[in-house]
Amino acid sequence: MENEVKTTCPYCGVGCGVIAKVGDDGTVSVKGDPDHPSNYGRLCSKGSALGETVDLDGRLLHPEIRGTRAAWDEALDLVARTFSAAIAEHGPDSVAFYVSGQLLTEDYYVANKLMKGFIGSANIDTNSRLCMSSSVAGHRRAFGADTVPGTYEDLELADLVILTGSNLAWCHPVLYQRLAAAKAKRPGMKIVVIDPRRTMTADLADLHLAIRPDTDVALFVGLFSHLVLNNAIDQNYVAAHTSGFAEAFVASSSVSFADVLEQTGLPAMQLREFYRLFTTTEKVVTCYSQGVNQSSSGTDKVNVILNCHLATGRIGRPGMGPFSLTGQPNAMGGREVGGLANMLAAHMAIESAEDRDRVQRFWQSPRIAERPGLKAVDLFQAVADGRIKALWIMATNPVVSMPDADAVAAAIKACPFVVVSDILKTTDTARHAHILLPSLGWGEKSGTVTNSERRISRQRSFLDAPGEARADWWQLAEVGRRMGFAAAFDYEAPAEVFEEHAALSAFENEGGRDFDIGAYAGLTRQTYDTLAPFQWPQPAEGGKAETRFFADGGFYHADGKARFVAVEPTLSDRTSTAYPFTLNTGRIRDQWHTMTRTGKSARLSSHIAEPFAELHPRDAMEIGVGNAGLVEIESPQGKAVVRALITDRQARGSLFVPMHWNDQFAAAGRIDAVVPPVTDRISGQPASKNVAVAARKFKAA
Ligand code: SF4
Repeated sequence: MENEVKTTCPYCGVGCGVIAKVGDDGTVSVKGDPDHPSNYGRLCSKGSALGETVDLDGRLLHPEIRGTRAAWDEALDLVARTFSAAIAEHGPDSVAFYVSGQLLTEDYYVANKLMKGFIGSANIDTNSRLCMSSSVAGHRRAFGADTVPGTYEDLELADLVILTGSNLAWCHPVLYQRLAAAKAKRPGMKIVVIDPRRTMTADLADLHLAIRPDTDVALFVGLFSHLVLNNAIDQNYVAAHTSGFAEAFVASSSVSFADVLEQTGLPAMQLREFYRLFTTTEKVVTCYSQGVNQSSSGTDKVNVILNCHLATGRIGRPGMGPFSLTGQPNAMGGREVGGLANMLAAHMAIESAEDRDRVQRFWQSPRIAERPGLKAVDLFQAVADGRIKALWIMATNPVVSMPDADAVAAAIKACPFVVVSDILKTTDTARHAHILLPSLGWGEKSGTVTNSERRISRQRSFLDAPGEARADWWQLAEVGRRMGFAAAFDYEAPAEVFEEHAALSAFENEGGRDFDIGAYAGLTRQTYDTLAPFQWPQPAEGGKAETRFFADGGFYHADGKARFVAVEPTLSDRTSTAYPFTLNTGRIRDQWHTMTRTGKSARLSSHIAEPFAELHPRDAMEIGVGNAGLVEIESPQGKAVVRALITDRQARGSLFVPMHWNDQFAAAGRIDAVVPPVTDRISGQPASKNVAVAARKFKAA
């Protein structure tokens, strides 16, 4: 055990515990932490390869100003001076931070505090906008707060697990392993997978519903209607704990069974079986991920799923409930500290004068942002049209991952002042920076992350900081001090930031918010260092103890009731004669985001070496492309060229292309250059699914 450090995997939202060890020769070995309640010793291929990704190749080791090495003081002074000058001349909304679910909670907290409390703007958004903001919006509409009811154990206890818009086997592999093990133990457990593509996850399913892309709203509105018509509503629960049922029913009654069949394209037998399973099974968990969230109707999709669980009272009890799976290691931690443009810290609402006052008094800040800031797509649009004069990007690569990626690259290139904090100097985004600030990577940095089931775990450092790299929270605090806010950013260590975050979550908590982590305010450095994984809520002493949300039927709207949201399906087919294919983007098993880390492992790259488009054999024949031939995919936004992967797992007329490849690995493989900047009207989450494109055999010019 000596020299072994317990930490947390930095990739997906499962948040697996990892035991890392540095060998005498400096190599890093990892294994799953058997004591971590999220993975009990398991790791997936990405987690197992963590030791292969921590080399210094390509690392940014010193601050740089316009490509020239600079001292930290010089770089930080310039950042503070330029941001202050832009604010003085153009106002607080002329600057922006674009941050990341890769940041630790402590980094996120300091970034949010500096922007919202001291600069006075809410122009801080995150790449988590691309991943789960529709779930946040759906939770807030239904529950009155962004509270995720599910736990991983619920999947193991359920008799019916529905996975919609989730390729769990590849995107949350350890959770998939837990589910597969539970099903092997209890063969009576049923699994339904809803996905236009026959994914690896679908192979585990008793029923695979290959719906047309983006027709999940019709599917679940039809389910809601079916529950009513078959007397499957828990009338007592609905009367005692909810409101808006009648309006939701009126909206759903306009959708007949035949309408659902027509929209989804499902065979009647399959649809009947799905509705029968849901209607007759008490312990149902519905997991959803990017296939639901990344849609122009993402928030409505979330709410129709929540409607079905509320209508049957299947929420707040073991083995049942809706469960949004987060994509990133700390998307949830970002939500807790308000790292989104439309949220305040500690789940408080930026729209509420009372909440703004509470946060401002706690921070003792000179001002507080008074309205929501720019969400990711709008933020880069504001960069493009010159409204943003100074932009700080942290731990993310929007030139690859944002929709309309070429336009985002052009906007960043044209921005008068761009700061990028990253571990690498070679990312597609870092190349456009005026100032590069070297950050700490996994194994070097220290702090906390929160996974999909609200479990807060420590990431611990076990490697020396390379070169002059420093933590993101430190960089932000140094800039805050230089902007004139020395007392508010006087942190010495991440433990102090965490303690402040915990204290804020419990501050003046008499308003009934019992989902805080106030019990962790006042931690000593030593207890922070030895902090074991725990789930919030963890109220301060004297607060109401509750380990499971909604167990007592209470929600966070003022009247304590949940809300049904009346949703009507919208037509989802965007194809046209010019753009006859539907493109869905997504993840593959062995790569992470834009491959800046997983791309270093030859073992991981041997799984799938190049970007590809999955397409149906008849579509491949019609466009005249053979297996491994090159396909050009085009939309009004741009083009990408990838290998054809011909498979009947893919429905006719549709394509699946992974989102990982950047220009370093494939010259024309950036699929987000093809995706238009269409967003959900409520959450602002980009629709990375259901994109109308043309596909043809590539011919070199
Ligand atoms: Fe890491 Fe996710 Fe794999 Fe767990 S399942 S090891 S958190 S990538």
